[in-house]
Amino acid sequence: MNTLKSQLHTSEHILGQILDEYCTGFRTTALEFREDNVRYDFKAENMSDTITKDLLEAKVNVIIRRNIPVETYEVSREKAKEMGLDLSIVPRSVERIRIVDIKSVNKQACAGEHVSNTSEIGQVEIIKFVKKGVNSYQIVSKIRN
Ligand SMILES: [Zn+2]
Repeated sequence: MNTLKSQLHTSEHILGQILDEYCTGFRTTALEFREDNVRYDFKAENMSDTITKDLLEAKVNVIIRRNIPVETYEVSREKAKEMGLDLSIVPRSVERIRIVDIKSVNKQACAGEHVSNTSEIGQVEIIKFVKKGVNSYQIVSKIRN
């Protein structure tokens, strides 16, 4: 489904993948969808100095423009662990894990709405990228109209 929320959600998965490649000890701590933008909070022990707001924006958009299919499917909790997925934010009672698979880019457990191809996202704009505290950062982004 091609809604703003599904566009933003999918773009956050791509953003997380890029951050993970530039950081050690990377983990998402919060994701808040607002009217026309999304706030993404994460922690990282070390982050490459080369990372800037503009670099992130460019990298996210390069991936989006590759028109990559996005598939969703369910696996058992056991299988999701074997796949090396982070299940720390999935409640323990959930036995069937929904995987959002942006083919050959990123795979993660997520119950949200996503587009079915990255071409449906449009262009992402990073509005803000700031350090909030020791090892903690925040990114605000939106879809450019
Ligand atoms: Zn998601």
